Formats: sequence, C-alpha cells, structure tokens
Amino acid sequence: MLCQKCNRAKAEIKLPYLGLRLCKACFCKLIERRVKKEIRSKNLINEKEKILLLNNNSKEAKISEHIIRVAYNNRVDLLKVKINELEIGFLSREVKESIKKNKIKQIIIPWNLDDEIIYFSENLFNRGDFKYIGNFKQNKILYIKLLRNVLESECLLFAKCRKFKFKDRPEKDKQRKDIKKMLDKINKKHAETKFSLLKSIEQIIPIIQS
Ligand SMILES: [Zn+2]
Repeated sequence: MLCQKCNRAKAEIKLPYLGLRLCKACFCKLIERRVKKEIRSKNLINEKEKILLLNNNSKEAKISEHIIRVAYNNRVDLLKVKINELEIGFLSREVKESIKKNKIKQIIIPWNLDDEIIYFSENLFNRGDFKYIGNFKQNKILYIKLLRNVLESECLLFAKCRKFKFKDRPEKDKQRKDIKKMLDKINKKHAETKFSLLKSIEQIIPIIQS
C-alpha cells in the first residue's frame, strides 16, 4: 500500500486516530508541522533569546532539539544541559548554573502528550496543585513542553524514523505506571482518547488557575 499523502512511498506507518497510512517522510513532516503550529499559536519560543534544553538523552529530548533546529534553520541559540532524570519543577545544580551563566529565560523540557495527561491525572487524584500543568512560568523562566501534543507512541515512531539514539528509563512510580497502563488500554479501543483528554485539560487549565 502507498502513502495516502504523497502516493509515492510505501505506507509504513499507521495512525489509527486519523485513519491514515503514511510513509516515514510524510509522518515526520506531519509531526514537525504539528509542533511548529503549537510554537506559533502559543508564542512559545522567543528566537532572539537563548534556549536551554534539558537533555536526559530521551527520545523527547532528541526530537525537541531536531524540531527546533528544523523550525529555525539553525538560527537559534540552543544550549543543552545534561540531566539524569527529569523531575518536573526540580533543577539540578548544573542546570541552575547554566541558567545563571547564560541568562536563560526559556527552557525546553523533554515531555510528551502522555506525560501531560499522566501528570494531570496524578494531580487530580493526589497532589492537586497542578503547578506544572501546560507550559508554565517559574521565576520568570518559561518552561516549554515542546512535544505536549505528540503522543509517546508517535515520539517512538519519529525517533525510529530519524534513527535517533536515545535512552528511555522505565517509569518507576507505581501510581504513574498504573495510570499509564489504564490510558494505554482505553486508547487501544478508542484511538482518539489521549488527544481528547489533552483538549479537556486545555479547557480545565484556566479554571484551575483562576
Ligand atoms: Zn508519503
């Protein structure tokens, strides 16, 4: 079967929620376009200022870097700082030093759509502060979840298509693991579930923050 977009290359990727079969190139373009649209519509990046990427060697970190480079044609000053594990809201000494040294005002965190809905569910039932929902500001720094509207499964496909080397750490937290399992199960039956949840979260954010 041929790709339903370009009608030329072999369709190797199936996107159930869109009912589409795409070739690798068209799939990558689709994801890149979706992220670029999010950057534009939410005014996420100030291209005149330095950007710091928290690099935990995950596929999300690799993809974020790739998309920034593609979107801005290498015209932006993208710095990277290594982190061992991403703990949202927490900054290591190295990260703090880099922020100070480079006068950083925008930070990209390796974070996908699944991470966002798991974070939301966790807060809904547990912590309930929702401090780090959406792209958030803390101490005058904007924290950008560049891949907030890209599924974990899409990130995996993208990284494979682009032949990125990455290291994912399995989730250790029992509750987050359970939420993830449940979401995956529902999403298997209803392919649009995760996207609908993100949409609901978008509507709930202003209520929570008011
Ligand atoms: Zn194609």
